[in-house]
Amino acid sequence: MAKVNNPRVGTMECPHCDQKRSVHVTSKGAYKGYLYSRCPSCPVKKVDQSRDDVSQTLMRQNTAFDAGFESLATEKPEPKKKEPTETPLNSRGSEVLDPEKPQTTKPNRSGLALVAGAVGLTLIILGVKTA
Ligand SMILES: [Zn+2]
Repeated sequence: MAKVNNPRVGTMECPHCDQKRSVHVTSKGAYKGYLYSRCPSCPVKKVDQSRDDVSQTLMRQNTAFDAGFESLATEKPEPKKKEPTETPLNSRGSEVLDPEKPQTTKPNRSGLALVAGAVGLTLIILGVKTA
């Protein structure tokens, strides 16, 4: 077996037998941050690697996390979803609908974009800090 066991982060009651399952967190790969659990002597499910939202949430709720890993109870891994990209037609469309203002805004574009980017970044940082 080439698989390396990740360190234990907590324990939970096994729903299939009377043992306690050890809970681990995937430390690398596409499923980094996902929890999985192992039962030492399970007749049903020795390793539970369910990665759907419901299973992951249940595992987080049912796990007694070890000291230092409590934050895992609330932290959720963010699966890499394909974000719906906005059609670039919107910005171009507004230019077309604005024939009265020809290209006067062009020189400021990059500057405005930088400011908007900085503001967005600041908001994100603030949001993370106050969350
Ligand atoms: Zn079990």
